[in-house]
Amino acid sequence: MICETCGREFTARRNDARYCSPACRQKAYRDRHAPVLARRFRLTDEMGQYLSAAEFRELQKLVARIQTKIDNNTTQSR
Ligand SMILES: [Zn+2]
Repeated sequence: MICETCGREFTARRNDARYCSPACRQKAYRDRHAPVLARRFRLTDEMGQYLSAAEFRELQKLVARIQTKIDNNTTQSR
């Protein structure tokens, strides 16, 4: 068997095994869901109603930082 995440050959205990280790399975799961998270996590003006202008700016910065990290994660895994 070839692991779908790292491409290493491994001996599968089960016929339907696709990954060599739990870590690789986890990574595959994260990679599959990262782009979805990036799309869904969007800042709206409505959120701003509950925050002060300064807090909202801070939140925008944090969201931008999260998006960058998700994007990096997604590109590196390819
Ligand atoms: Zn692997």
